[in-house]
This record gives sequence, structure tokens and C-alpha cells, in this order.
Amino acid sequence: MGEELIGRLIERLGEGSVRTGADIPPNNCVDASHLTPVTPRAVVFPRTTEEVSAVLALCHAADQPVVTQGGMTGLAAGAHPGEGEVALSLEKMRGVEEVDPVAGTLTALAGTPLAEVQAAAEEAGFLCGIDLGARGTATIGGNVATNAGGNQVVRYGMTRRNVLGLEAVQADGTILTSLNKMMKNNTGYDWTQLFIGSEGTLGVVTRVVIGLHPKPAAVETALLAAPDANAALAVLARLQARFGGELLTFEAMWSEFIAVAVTRIKLPEPFAERHDVTLLVELGTTDKERMTDVLGELMEEGLVADAFLAQSGQDAARMWAYRESVYEYGQFQGNQINLDISLPRGQIGQAVEDLRQLGASAWPAAVQVIFGHVADSNLHVVIGPLDGGAGYVTPADKKTVDAGVYEVVRRHKGSVSAEHGIGRLKRAYLGYSRSPAELALMRTLKTALDPKGILNPGRVLEEA
Ligand code: ZN
Repeated sequence: MGEELIGRLIERLGEGSVRTGADIPPNNCVDASHLTPVTPRAVVFPRTTEEVSAVLALCHAADQPVVTQGGMTGLAAGAHPGEGEVALSLEKMRGVEEVDPVAGTLTALAGTPLAEVQAAAEEAGFLCGIDLGARGTATIGGNVATNAGGNQVVRYGMTRRNVLGLEAVQADGTILTSLNKMMKNNTGYDWTQLFIGSEGTLGVVTRVVIGLHPKPAAVETALLAAPDANAALAVLARLQARFGGELLTFEAMWSEFIAVAVTRIKLPEPFAERHDVTLLVELGTTDKERMTDVLGELMEEGLVADAFLAQSGQDAARMWAYRESVYEYGQFQGNQINLDISLPRGQIGQAVEDLRQLGASAWPAAVQVIFGHVADSNLHVVIGPLDGGAGYVTPADKKTVDAGVYEVVRRHKGSVSAEHGIGRLKRAYLGYSRSPAELALMRTLKTALDPKGILNPGRVLEEA
């Protein structure tokens, strides 16, 4: 049965687009979740939507489970292959097909890396509102599948707010096309929004229409020190009140994060004294004077203890180096646990204290840092090997950490996934953030759209 299907896939796509056994690239066997690599039954590389449709129709007829793959940067094991699955890689469906300057939209194939989408928007005088650290590798289709977030969500929203239209293929090969370019389109159920964030479990996205934004005329960057989380949130409220939509970025880094940046990554101390929260703020404003005034007010009120306003691009890059130091942790530890959680803003201060206490009592030797996009309610928690050495986090360590951290999230009525999705790694905790009625609705939708359960089985929901 398996061999017959592979033969049909080769017949339809050609020999070069179907790889099996030792011919499968290592990149298709593992994603960024650090799970043990698994060699799928085959990897197919369709070049067109019609070929994606043909692959799914053949797999559907053969009851063959399929895992969809993009840039493989996901942290929740959504694209990590399972035993016996066929991997459907969209890497050959790459390219920006159109920038429409009148509509202010961009249309790209799903396998296009986000950085290429951003560059095409920029070249046409626009800005793509989706941005994240993995931009060079992560694909726009993967961003849609996971409803990716990032550093400018406070201004431009998650991926779903930037998507106007989609083309996707259903489990049985049916092609759905809604390459909509209009802000308003109220014609019945919006299946496109349903597919965004469904992590490949409802269909395979093949084309994306992005709504573009005007580029801010100028960007001012500042590094601020806040005495505690509540002061940081008061700073956020003030900046939103005074600058509204001009607030582009509001990133918080707690003191343990700065300690690692200084001692391990060897960045200079950002301020004369260490403060509990360091804030990286960007405003899309040409009114530098107003910004200086507001910072002065905040300092007088004691909400900001120290502040630097970037005077050049190099200054801004030096400020971003703190936030990006987290991508350098491979220098001192083999791997780590990356958790992304959401908490109602008012709970963030207490939740950080709870996480600190949990870390100190349950994994005192491990590096544990907390940082994140607090304007979006989103915290990232990074925890290194629990023995504190340069070794690797074991699956048992991960289980211990997940259970502890997600319990804090549940207590504060937060979300176990802010932006990384559920995949397979967070599936057991979905019930911490969703009610039984919501889970039942998800199951109903999954069964309606993929009755045989061939699309990314076991991701988001348990296999039926
Ligand atoms: Zn993030």
C-alpha cells in the first residue's frame, strides 16, 4: 500500500520532487522543538497549488497522514514529522507574486521566507506588519499556520490581523481560493480566519495576501529602567495614552535576563545600577521633543529610574543587542526550554514573582530568564539545563518545567501559548486555557474539515 502511494506521488510530481529513505534531507526530519529526529515515509516538494492538491487527494484516498512543513522554526513540534507520515514541504513554492500599490497588498506563495516578503514590501515603499526573530527562515505560510506574533504586535497585531486573503487546499485536495484584497468583505463565514492559527490541521495554506502598512517616517528607540513590573506597566499605559498607535515596540527584560546578557554574552551593563525591569521601547514618531518630555515626566514620578534615548542607528542596535542576546544562549548551554505564555497585564507582576520562586525552589541551578512583549500580555520564559551545566535538557526536565510553569499560568487565568502555538508539545495543557465546550467545538471543526484525520494528526488536538 505504502509503496503504491509513493509510486503514484512520483508519477504525478516527478522523481526529483519525492524523496524517500536516505535521500530525505535532515532538515525535514526535525523542527526547532528539539525532539528526536524522525525520518518520514517520504517528503514531497510540490511546486504549484495543483500539485499540493494532487498530493493531498492521493494521500486522502490512501488514508495516509501528512505533516506540512515550512521553515521548520516552530517550537511546538507542529511540523516535526511522526513515524510513517508523508511530509509535505512548501519550500519550492517560493516567491512574492505581486505587490499592489493601490490596494496596499502583497501576494506571496506560502513557502516564501518572511524576510523576502518584508523586503518586497519595503522595496515598494510599504511595511509588512509581521516581524519575528526567525524571519530569515520562517515562511509566510508557517506564520499564517501558527498565527505568529513577534516584536511589533502592539502596533500591527498578530499575523491574523495582517492577512486579507488566502488560498488553501483541503484534506481531500479541494482548492479553496479567497485572494481577497479588500478591508471589508462580509460575505458569510470567514474560513480564512479559521485556517489562520490552525497549525496545518484544517488545510494546507498555499498563497497569502498580506495587507501592508505605511512605513513610519522615523523611529525613536529608547532603553528604560523601571523599578518593578507595575512601574513598567504604568510606563506602558502612559506611552499608549500619549503616543497611541505610534508605539511600535514595548519589550521587557527582567533582571535575570540582563544578568545573563552581561555575564555570559558579555554585553556591557546597560545602566549604572541594575534595575528589576529593563524596557526596550520604539516609537514611530518624528516628535523627539515630546518623547523627551514624556520620559522626563516618567522619571520625575519614579516610574522610570534611568533612561537612554538612541542618538544613532548604532545606539539603537546596541539597545536591541540586549533583547537579541537570547538567541546567543547556544554559546553556554546545549539546549533550553522556551515557553511562551500570556497573562492578563494586571497579573504579570505577581506571575513573574511566582515563576522566580518556582525556579529557585524547583530548579535552582538552571538559568531561568523572563522577558517578553508585555504590551501584548506575552512573556517568554527560557530555562536552561536543570543541572546548571552546559549539557542538554532531558524530556523529563521539560515535563517538570512545563507542569510547574503552566500551573502558574492556570492560576493567573493566562494562556499556555501566546504565539508559538500548541503543536504536540502543549497539547496536554490546552485544557488549562480552553474550556471543555471550546475543545468540543475544535473537535467538531476538525472532524468536519478533515474527517479522516490525515492533516497534521496529533497536533493541537489528540488523534481521534
Ligand atoms: Zn516572542
